[in-house]
Parts: sequence; structure tokens; C-alpha cells
Amino acid sequence: KGDVQSYEFQAETRMLLDIVAKSLYSEKEVFIRELISNASDAIEKARYLAIQGQALDSSEADMKIHITTDKYDKTITIQDSGIGMTKEELIQNLGIIARSGSKDFVKQLEEAGGADPQNIIGQFGVGFYSAFMVADKVEVFTRSRLPGSVGYCWSSDGGGKYTVEESEGVEPGTKIICHLKIAERQFSDEDTVSGVIKKYSSFVGSPVEVNGQRTNNIEPIWLQDPKEVSPEQHSEFYRYVGGSYDTPRYTLHYRIDAPIDLRCVLYVPEGKPGMFDMNREGQSSVALYCRRVLIMNKAENVIPKWLRFMKGVVDSEDIPLNLSRELLQDSALISRLRTVLQNRVIRFLFDKSRKDPEGYSKFFTDYGIFIKEGILSSTEQVEKEEIAKLVLYESSDKPVGEKVTLPEYIGRMKEDQKDIFYLAAPSRELAETSPYFEALKKKNVEVLFCYETYDEVVLMQLKEFSRKNIVSVEKEMRQDKNAVDFDGAEGGLMRSQANELMEWLKSLLAGRCWGVKATPRLESHPCAITVEEMASARHFVRTQFSQIP
Ligand code: ADP
Ligand code: MG
Repeated sequence: KGDVQSYEFQAETRMLLDIVAKSLYSEKEVFIRELISNASDAIEKARYLAIQGQALDSSEADMKIHITTDKYDKTITIQDSGIGMTKEELIQNLGIIARSGSKDFVKQLEEAGGADPQNIIGQFGVGFYSAFMVADKVEVFTRSRLPGSVGYCWSSDGGGKYTVEESEGVEPGTKIICHLKIAERQFSDEDTVSGVIKKYSSFVGSPVEVNGQRTNNIEPIWLQDPKEVSPEQHSEFYRYVGGSYDTPRYTLHYRIDAPIDLRCVLYVPEGKPGMFDMNREGQSSVALYCRRVLIMNKAENVIPKWLRFMKGVVDSEDIPLNLSRELLQDSALISRLRTVLQNRVIRFLFDKSRKDPEGYSKFFTDYGIFIKEGILSSTEQVEKEEIAKLVLYESSDKPVGEKVTLPEYIGRMKEDQKDIFYLAAPSRELAETSPYFEALKKKNVEVLFCYETYDEVVLMQLKEFSRKNIVSVEKEMRQDKNAVDFDGAEGGLMRSQANELMEWLKSLLAGRCWGVKATPRLESHPCAITVEEMASARHFVRTQFSQIP
């Protein structure tokens, strides 16, 4: 028998444990969900390895999660026959914060300064450490299922330290014993525990037993008939797969058999995107399954990068189970899957924009930036235009706050109007008083207003929509061909005076501008500066002209 070795938790972990242990967070019961979810992950990992041909200790037959409660000892025990942990894994996984959810939590805490942690703890799943909300001692008995492994016991009271020692008679897999605090002894009551499991874990992919009684139905949600799944079940499942604590804003439950076999549930969160979603390097939250076996938890390539804010599960029977994860990266099949999913999601969102414009507008305020990224990152014009159907802009035809889609704009275009016009400006007020807008306003032509600096880049990249050119009103003004001549009417300039003025301006601005033209189209502004194309040129023009006295 080996010695008892004592270790210190990583500093961040200690801080997290301290907060968790003292937590007044009312839904302490979520620790059950967290521990079951870990047990389920461990079983999925074992299943995956077995399918890959890896030899494992003990048979695959008993892939179950056993929960036992003991009122007398005030304990709750969660045992799984999953992959288990080696000594190194124990130290790595339970001594150091690995989980992104917990990292987010600690980060937010640091950013919030002295803010009350209780207010933010509810927004995060703190994984394994949540056991310390209810327990004053946690023991983990574990043995890796890789052949030849020995068993270990990890133990901690949630203070600064934990111990690890070799242990005999440990079954392959992991057994976690929570010694409950007196105040939390209700979690050693069978009915209470069964109730919590029904609430949070009814979709876990392996059987869950409480004191030998089966509690869950394991038909995965995404394999069920969409009509038979209730919104409550979706909410629970969403929280489970997304590791979230809010509810889904949109739910897409979809099944097809051709051109590929595909079952999926995809969710758009109710909450706004977090900083981790915004990051282009951010991970996908879509899990890839094949016939109920988890292939990859955060499957990068299954949905396009710009849809990384969606959470859910994709299951396809067409994926060969023995395909390695590396090969999955660039398989033609995955890319087909991605195309099918992208088209389906676009159709779904477009449908929302028509049926519930108000709700969709809110969605767009929160997630529109991803859609614009989609236009910029796609390589085919058809694809760009498909995504562009989802974009909303304010319009000169609509009151402030009301937004229109490109198909709507096209539907209202006058017969002789060939182009789609937009104006980039920092605000509605500046757009409406802009000299560039004046001419089109006079002609009663609808103009889209865009306020973000990257909007111009997006629209320039898009170039066309539905065979109409997308044109900046600045450019339209430059290309005005049917300008009327100056005749001095209503106190205006004569042609000769206009020419004289232009010559003077040209000499004044020599080398700084491409040309000076007279236009009768402005009424309330004396002049306007126009730029060929580039949004960046605007900035250049500003800095150049600001030097003129
Ligand atoms: P997460 O599940 O998000 O990774 P947790 O804090 O819940 O974060 O768990 C940390 C890590 O500990 C897991 O990633 C896993 O490697 C390991 N672990 C926890 N519970 C088990 C278990 N029952 N069997 C095997 N490994 C486990
Ligand atoms: Mg976990």
C-alpha cells in the first residue's frame, strides 16, 4: 500500500472552493446534476474508446450510474463505470480548474472586484467543486479502465488541501462519496434525490439508478419525435448540453434522412453572447453523436464558425464510428453536414424574422454581429446572399428602432430603381441630416442606415443581393449623370460662376482631391465630400482635409 500524499489546490481553485463552500446559493441541489453529468461524460468516454478498439478493464455491459443514499451516515454516493482516472488525472482534473465554466466564473469575480459572489454564482456551473456546497468532506475512489491501472482515493474537506492515496478493491470507474453538512442532510433522502434527478438529468444517456431503482428514461431527446418533446424538456436539455443556466430563446429540433441522415436539436440562448462566444477562436457548443454514441463534445466543424453561439446536439448515422477525431476535422461528410445545417438554420431564422419580427429584432441586436461575420467569412456569393437575408437595418422609410430585411427592401423598390442604397453614419440623426441622403430623400428613395463601422465592409463584400447592386449613397452622388445646369434661378449660381468657384476650389485642394464638381442636388448643404469605395478612405479624407485652413 502506498502512502497518503497531501497536495495543495491551485490558488484559483482554492478561491473558487471557498466561495462555493460558503455559498448561500439557493439551488444547491445542482451539485447532483454536475456529478451525474461528470459520470455520464466518463461513461461516454469509455464507450468511445471501446468502439475505437481500445481494450478496457471490465465489460461494457454495465454502463450505469448508481446513486446510493444513506440517511444514517448522511452521505450520497455517485458511482459510475466510466473511464475513471489515473493518479495524474486525479491531480490534474480535481486539483486545478480545467473547466471553462469555472474559469469564466473566477474571471468574472475578479472583474467584478468586491462584488457579491452570490449574485454571479447562479449563472455558472462550477462542476465537481459544487459538491462542496453541500459536503464538508468529499471522497473520490477511482480506477482507470485502461488495463493494468490501480485504484486511488482522493479526499478533501474543501479547505486548501487534498490527499491522494493508493486504495485496494476500487472498481473500475469512479465513486464519489459526499459526506453532507448537517444543514444539507436532505440530500441523503432517497425521494429528494430522485426528485432532483428527474428535474435535471432525465436525458442523461446512461441509466441512472437511485438505491437500485431506475429513475430516467434514456431515449435521447434528439431521437424523439419533435412533437413529443415539451418546451420544459428542451429547457432542461439545453441547460445540460450547453452547461447554461438560462433558457433557450429559439429551439430547432430537426430530422432528415436524405441527403444525409441527420437528427439534431440546436438552441439559441436567451442570454446575450458571452465574451467566449464573441472570440473567433471560441469553441463550438455542439456535440456530435453517432447513433447515440458521443463522438466529440465540442465538435468544431459540424456547424459553421459564425454559428458558434448555437448550442445542442447533432447525431448522424452516416458517420463511421471508427473514424478518428483527426479525420473528422476535414472529412467531406462533415462538410456536407455543415452545409445542410447552415441552410437549415438560415431558413429557421429567416422564418422567425417573418413570423415574429419583434422577437427577431431582439435576437439580431444580440447576435447580429455573428451573422455579419458569416457574410464576411463565406466564400461563395450565393452563400453570402443566403446569410444576408438575416441582416436587419434601420431604413429611411421606417421610424427609429424599426428595422427591415434586404428582401423587404427589394419588395418596396420602385420600378425604375436599380440599386439598393445604404448610408453609413454614426447615428440616425446624422444619417438623416447627411448631405448624401438629401438627394435621395428628395426623390423618395428608401435608404438603409447602418451605424456600425464594420457595416460598410460587410455591404461592400456582399456587393449584390438578388441581382441588385448594393450602393453607398455617396457613390450614387458621384455618378449622378443627369445633372441640370446652373441657370441662376432662385438666387443660385450661373454656370460661369459655378465654373469659377470650381477652378478656385481645385487650385486650393490641388493634390488633395480627385476632382471638384458642381451639383444642383444639394439644398441645405453647401458641399459634400464623396469617396470612391473604401470605408477606410473616409478616415483618410478626414485627416487630409482637416489641415486646410
Ligand atoms: P467539466 O466536467 O466541465 O470538465 P468538472 O469540474 O465537472 O468540469 O470536472 C473536472 C474534470 O474531472 C472532468 O473534466 C473530468 O476529467 C474529471 N472527472 C470528474 N468527474 C469524473 C468522473 N466521474 N469520472 C472520470 N473523470 C471525472
Ligand atoms: Mg462536469
